[in-house]
Amino acid sequence: MHQSVIETIGNTPLIRLRRASEETGCDIYGKAEFMNPGQSVKDRAALFIIRDAERKGLLRPGGVIVEGTAGNTGIGLTVVGRALGYRTVIVIPETQSQEKKDALRVLGAELIEVPAVPYKNPNNYVKVSGRLAEQLARTEPNGAIWANQFDNVANRDGHRETTAQEIWRQTEGRIDGFVTAVGTGGTLAGVSEGLRERNPNVKIALADPMGAALHSYYTTGELKAEGSSITEGIGQGRVTANLEGFRPDFSYQIPDAEALPLIFGLVQEEGLCLGGSTGINIAGAIRLAREMGPGHVIVTILADYGTRYQSKLFNPAFLREKGLPVPAWIEMRGNISV
Ligand code: PMP
Repeated sequence: MHQSVIETIGNTPLIRLRRASEETGCDIYGKAEFMNPGQSVKDRAALFIIRDAERKGLLRPGGVIVEGTAGNTGIGLTVVGRALGYRTVIVIPETQSQEKKDALRVLGAELIEVPAVPYKNPNNYVKVSGRLAEQLARTEPNGAIWANQFDNVANRDGHRETTAQEIWRQTEGRIDGFVTAVGTGGTLAGVSEGLRERNPNVKIALADPMGAALHSYYTTGELKAEGSSITEGIGQGRVTANLEGFRPDFSYQIPDAEALPLIFGLVQEEGLCLGGSTGINIAGAIRLAREMGPGHVIVTILADYGTRYQSKLFNPAFLREKGLPVPAWIEMRGNISV
């Protein structure tokens, strides 16, 4: 029995990924973060950021939470905010999926769409949200805070204290490797910290999409990005505060063409409909499994649910336009007539 929706955040199941496990001879598990109430891994960060701001006396009853987000953190903040009596103002790049924007509006967030421009541009969504928070802190009767997920380490703390501990318990301490992509780095750095405290031999890998700079950073020391990806919520160009002091044991750069067939295969063969970043994660898990050899237990993150990207990832016209493989079953409609 739960007293509110907040208590349903976390304690997500660990699900064996059958095909990935069979193909590598490892046991590859996905942490089912899409089963959080906001349907993504970001509910945990949202809850920890809000609780941290309350503890520090920064967030007062009836206050406003402002954030720049690819969507999922905004959804998490709005779910938790609604339950605790806070308003949310969400700044989102207009390129993010319609489904995430719709979910934010339905939940009651005040949504501000801005053009997608690089972080160094002062009109980047993160910077716009920071300025807006400063302004609202002065004008709102109950004040306002900037959640600042990228550089607020309450995000990483949440994963160290919850996600990592759950994975340790659920694998009965048998985990050998953990791999995930980075948006803020909260999940990768936080889970890694928590697992390495338990067992310093657990191998940690970054799975970076094309267009991100961290793979280059961890392999050559230089922040350099090449190519692009249709995935959302991941692909970082700088070392955020959440990533400070963190180093992976392995780093992989994963093209969309490697990740998307995994997503399509999971829908068709395992009944798991997941977002694009999860494809990058699972591709990373398969590469780590091959690196470590058969017989290892490897965990990754099932970051959000696939219907959040129906108009992109599961839309043949969109995939074709991007030059990506279109699975046959997506185009099969209405074969049965009655
Ligand atoms: N996948 C999705 C779909 C996301 O929305 C995010 C968060 N932006 C991530 C992965 C990455 O998580 P983190 O911010 O903890 O690095």
